[in-house]
Amino acid sequence: MDRDRDRASEGRRLLSGWGRTAPTAAAVRCPESRTELEQALAAAGPRGVIGRGLGRSYGDAAQNGGGDVAVSSRLDRILSVNLEAGLVTVEAGVSLDQLMRAVAPLGYWPPVSPGTRHVTVGGAIASDVHGKGHHRDGTFGTHVPSIDLVAPGPGPLTITPEGSPDEFWATTGGMGLTGLIHRATLELLPIETSSVRVDSERTPDLDATLRVMSERDRDYRYSVAWIDCLARGSALGRSIVEFGEHARLDELPAGRRSRARALRFAPRDSLPAPPWVPSGLLNRATVAAFNELWYRKAPARREGHIVAAAQFFHPLDAVDGWNRIYGRRGFLQYQFVLPDGEEATLRKIIEELVNHRCASFLAVLKRFGPANPGPLSFPRPGWTLALDLPVSFSGVARLLDETDELVATAGGRVYLAKDSRLRPELLEVMYPELPRWRKVRERLDPDRRLQSDLLRRLPALADPTQAPARPARAGRQP
Ligand SMILES: Cc1cc2nc3c(=O)[nH]c(=O)nc-3n(C[C@H](O)[C@H](O)[C@H](O)COP(=O)(O)OP(=O)(O)OC[C@H]3O[C@@H](n4cnc5c(N)ncnc54)[C@H](O)[C@@H]3O)c2cc1C
Repeated sequence: MDRDRDRASEGRRLLSGWGRTAPTAAAVRCPESRTELEQALAAAGPRGVIGRGLGRSYGDAAQNGGGDVAVSSRLDRILSVNLEAGLVTVEAGVSLDQLMRAVAPLGYWPPVSPGTRHVTVGGAIASDVHGKGHHRDGTFGTHVPSIDLVAPGPGPLTITPEGSPDEFWATTGGMGLTGLIHRATLELLPIETSSVRVDSERTPDLDATLRVMSERDRDYRYSVAWIDCLARGSALGRSIVEFGEHARLDELPAGRRSRARALRFAPRDSLPAPPWVPSGLLNRATVAAFNELWYRKAPARREGHIVAAAQFFHPLDAVDGWNRIYGRRGFLQYQFVLPDGEEATLRKIIEELVNHRCASFLAVLKRFGPANPGPLSFPRPGWTLALDLPVSFSGVARLLDETDELVATAGGRVYLAKDSRLRPELLEVMYPELPRWRKVRERLDPDRRLQSDLLRRLPALADPTQAPARPARAGRQP
């Protein structure tokens, strides 16, 4: 990592999330050691400090307007790899890209990878990220045997799921609000190749999509559906469903079976979005045309297609700065989960989106498996849908407010790492274990040194007296 560049980036800077919607200015520091992390906490003024990795959360979780932000870019060392135990210990600023390039040639892979590998280990723990394998492997935090945390109250701590479950699970998914993560030990998954064997199926409608995923995903480590959110009527919910497994050596073409070639992981640096792509290119017409072409092009059913891991796990990483094609005002990513049994609510939400001609370029449906004990960890068993929506799309705020109500009433929740607009009164309805989390945070940060724009927007995260009452509405309450 370029340390001179990091030093130059210290100082007052305008920061935003990946959706580029609400930038705020903060004093940036780049601590390089546990002592410097402690100093960053001690030096925080009345607006506090928050940790930040690569800024891939979509909203304001890693921003702290008027306060300090501790960016982990200098905590970028892989400290040890224990191949026998399948464990790696890293500093919090190590990115999954860096980790994959280091461990794939050794025959290992992180068990959980989100849709971009340009996230840090600290950010992946703080958001307790999930990947296409959640139904089988759970979240990122499930594979972290220990975390070195610098917490404002008690100071440096090593927290583990067995030894300190409250602190561990409050930090995993805790959105950086329990301390600054210094280091972590991670489990690794053994692989024979850095390729993925993909089976895929084109489904004609939502019922078929849900059925295919429910029936087939238990046979695969990874599964995901790319759903066409502009298709209506009898085609509502039509999708391409993909299932994946790490390819075995004997599944590769004969010429690629040497160990060195089979485990090579060297994705090219991403290409910038071409300069001729007009800012704000994505609108209903372009998205509809793209979706039609993409859906028709996919084979009805394909088995055993071998692709490079980067193509399967991180297709968007191939284009640098793709978030700019939504235009100057940015975009919202909206992701919610609905419990199993709430398929009718899922249908209703998709119908609403379609009726509003809501041009989501990316719409990803996934089935979650069991939840972990993290009070703020997002995944729970059921269906999760993630959508990108341009801010310029008229009526987006009202539409999503209504969708939030449906989600909350059904016992679901939105994902804080993607959120930038949730109404504060819904937070505790969606995260009923929030009081348990607040108690642990109170112990770890009694003077409330850790603050962020997310916390100020959703003050009930830290303070129950700040939770506005939920207006009475017709319909079933959770
Ligand atoms: C294209 C794309 C695809 C994505 N796909 C998925 C997906 O499939 N699944 C999924 O779960 N998420 C997904 N995400 C979201 C992303 O994985 C999370 O937002 C992740 O937390 C980003 O990591 P980061 O290093 O950029 O952290 P940041 O965005 O910088 O920070 C995220 C949170 O982590 C905290 N944090 C960061 N570093 C530290 C630290 N050292 N100590 C304490 N707290 C810290 C911050 O305070 C903040 O609350 C996607 C994002 C993008 C842009």
